[in-house]
Formats: sequence, C-alpha cells, structure tokens
Amino acid sequence: METREQNSKTTADNRGKRRVARRKQRSFRCHACKRELPFCWNCPCGFQICDECMKENAWGLTNGPTWVCPDCGRVRMF
Ligand SMILES: [Zn+2]
Ligand SMILES: [Zn+2]
Repeated sequence: METREQNSKTTADNRGKRRVARRKQRSFRCHACKRELPFCWNCPCGFQICDECMKENAWGLTNGPTWVCPDCGRVRMF
C-alpha cells in the first residue's frame, strides 16, 4: 500500500481586504500648537490653525473679519 501524501494545503486565506481609505479630512492639525482638532481655520495652501492659536496670534493674523495666512499671505475670511 502506498500512502500518498497529498499536499493539498490550499489556504484560502485571502486577505485581500484593503481598506480603501479615502481620507476625508475629519480632523485638522494646528500648525501652531501641533494638536489634532476637529476644526481648524485652514488655507488652500495647507496651513491650518486652531481657534485658540488664532486668538493668540490675532494681533498678527487677523484684521476684523479676515485673517491672513502666514504661509502664503492669502487673505482668508472667517
Ligand atoms: Zn493651535
Ligand atoms: Zn496659505
């Protein structure tokens, strides 16, 4: 009698579940205090600053209803 060892290791362990992580920006990261926050004032150039830091730097950033991005100089509305 012959014992045939069938090498039938068919591991159907297809871990093809890749998370399609579309990064919708749910959280922001303040460029001033480096904290992650649910909201930051942000600029199209990528600059982000939280409300706290905005207030702290109000003297240099804001001018009434607008603030100026320190990175690109764009004037942004609140
Ligand atoms: Zn901040
Ligand atoms: Zn900017």
